[in-house]
Formats: sequence, structure tokens, C-alpha cells
Amino acid sequence: MDALVLQDVRKSYGTREAVHGISLKVHEGEIYGLIGHNGAGKTTTLRMISTLLRITSGSISVYGHDVSSEPDEVRKIISYLPEDAGAYKDLTGRAYLQFMASFFASGPERDAMVEKGITLADLGDRIDSKVDTYSKGMMRRLLIARAIMPSPKLAILDEVTSGLDVINSYEIREIIRSIAAGGVTVVMSSHNMFEVDMLCDRVGMIDQGNLILEGTPTDLKREYGMDTLEEVFVKAVRG
Ligand code: ATP
Repeated sequence: MDALVLQDVRKSYGTREAVHGISLKVHEGEIYGLIGHNGAGKTTTLRMISTLLRITSGSISVYGHDVSSEPDEVRKIISYLPEDAGAYKDLTGRAYLQFMASFFASGPERDAMVEKGITLADLGDRIDSKVDTYSKGMMRRLLIARAIMPSPKLAILDEVTSGLDVINSYEIREIIRSIAAGGVTVVMSSHNMFEVDMLCDRVGMIDQGNLILEGTPTDLKREYGMDTLEEVFVKAVRG
């Protein structure tokens, strides 16, 4: 089943078109990476999928639900983690997860969701420290736990490991792998070509609002005769 289908999706900001008719499909359980240079249109695309930005034309469906006509149905099955997401700094990590879980469930169901979040965040006893004492890596683990604990069918992650050290990036990639293995579809953006190569089943490259290439990392490297996805990226953009 297709978890996500974009058909000729366009987005204009005023008179300027930022996304010029993107079409793509993401299969259930797949990890799909969106890559592209700064300003290419990745976040705009992810925000349209997340129902946070109205599409100008075209259509997007998430597990068969249209983002424009059924946004509430879409919101029930997705989780979006923006690049610049933050948490309430005066709360402890545990209290933050409890607060966020209360939007989705109550009673024992909420408690189970919070326990799942605590396990995913894997912050040890620091889960009971205030969020404003967290390092960037700890904060990102808390946020990804918050995004995943309601068991979305589609997780939309914008530059989720940006600025993190090797160990935190590695562990977040492990979390992404494990949720995908559990059946969650993941659409993520990243500037880290090593990460995309290691993690993503398929990759779509956006350049100036257009999807200019798509495929598995292995196929793209073979097609371009390159050893790394970074070299494919440079060759595709420079021509
Ligand atoms: P980055 O990798 O730097 O995060 P991106 O690929 O996510 O970039 P977008 O943030 O989607 O790119 O931006 C695509 C284009 O749309 C850019 O030219 C940007 O300036 C423009 N844009 C984004 N948001 C707005 C907005 N709210 N109003 C006007 N233009 C916008």
C-alpha cells in the first residue's frame, strides 16, 4: 500500500512558486529521504504533507486521506517533528511526555504511551531533570520520543539529526530504523548524505522546487557511477 502519494504538488508564497509540481509515492514501512540544498523546498513539502501549509495545487494523500479535504483524519495518523522544535523548558522530560501524551489518550492508555516515550528517549534518570538542563542531543531524543510515542502511521522528520554528535546521531538513526521495522513509514529530510545513504530505502532529490531524481541510494550511485551519495548530489545539481 502507498502510505503517501503526492501528485503534481505546487506551493506558492505570494507570487513566487517554491514547489513546482512534485509527484512521488512512499510505500508503507519505507524510510524515504528528501535531500536538496538550502531553500530547495524540503521543509515546504514536509509541512504540506503535515497539513500545516495549504497546498496551492495538486494533491497529497496519506494512507488514502486527502490532506486538503480530510486534514483531521491525516492528523490522527501522522507525527511531524520540525527541525526547530522545542519542549517546555520548565517541565521535566517525563512531565513533558505526560503533557504531550494527554492530547492523545487518558488513563492507562496515556500512561503506556508515556512509558513508551521514556523508553524511546532512553535518558536514564535525567528524564526527571528539567528540560532546560538538557544538551541538544538529549533534547532531540526527547522530541523524537514525543513524536513516536503516539504510534503514528507516518512520521515526518525534518533534519532530525542536524547539529548532533556522532553518538546521538547514530542512536537517533537506530530509533528511526526500529520504528520503520515496526511498520511506521518515515519521511525525513537531511543534509547528511552519509546518513541518508545508511538509513533511507529510497531518496528523492529536490532542486529549486523540482524533484530531479529519485531511487535507492545503491541505484543512484550506480546510475551516476559514483561511490557516494554526496558525489551523486553534487553531479546532479551541477549537471
Ligand atoms: P533548508 O534546507 O535551508 O531548510 P528547504 O529545502 O527546507 O531549505 P524551504 O524552507 O522549503 O527549503 O524553502 C523553499 C523556498 O521557499 C525558499 O526560497 C524559501 O525562501 C521560500 N519560503 C519558505 N517559507 C516561506 C515563507 N513563509 N514565505 C515566503 N517564502 C518562503
